[in-house]
Amino acid sequence: MFLTVSEASEMDIKKLWVSPTNGSLSISWSDGHESNYSAFNLRRECPCALCKGEPGVFGKYYEAQDLKVSSGVEPEEIESVGRYGLKIVWSDKHDLGIYTVEYLRGLCECEECDAKRHLVREEK
Ligand SMILES: [Zn+2]
Ligand SMILES: [Zn+2]
Repeated sequence: MFLTVSEASEMDIKKLWVSPTNGSLSISWSDGHESNYSAFNLRRECPCALCKGEPGVFGKYYEAQDLKVSSGVEPEEIESVGRYGLKIVWSDKHDLGIYTVEYLRGLCECEECDAKRHLVREEK
């Protein structure tokens, strides 16, 4: 089953919880899917300009900063940003990334989503 654009835009987070033991994040989606993210991976995938780099004034991309993410990083606070995403304040005080719903879904670490991503890559 593949998501169409209209289905994807209606994707919503039904429930979200953070494990008190290791800070990993779990999301239950409106389509019944469940995702688990390790705090470390999620922090490394922070979508902000500082972590991911941004287009420079001369049309080239600035290199993203070398990320020094400590393995014990945990989400300290999670705020919803409108209807479209989450802002995560990390225990290393980084809070610039807005994780959109689509972005989070794309990061899902489960086998099913992983297999789907490989499929998309091979088709291109
Ligand atoms: Zn960042
Ligand atoms: Zn998944």
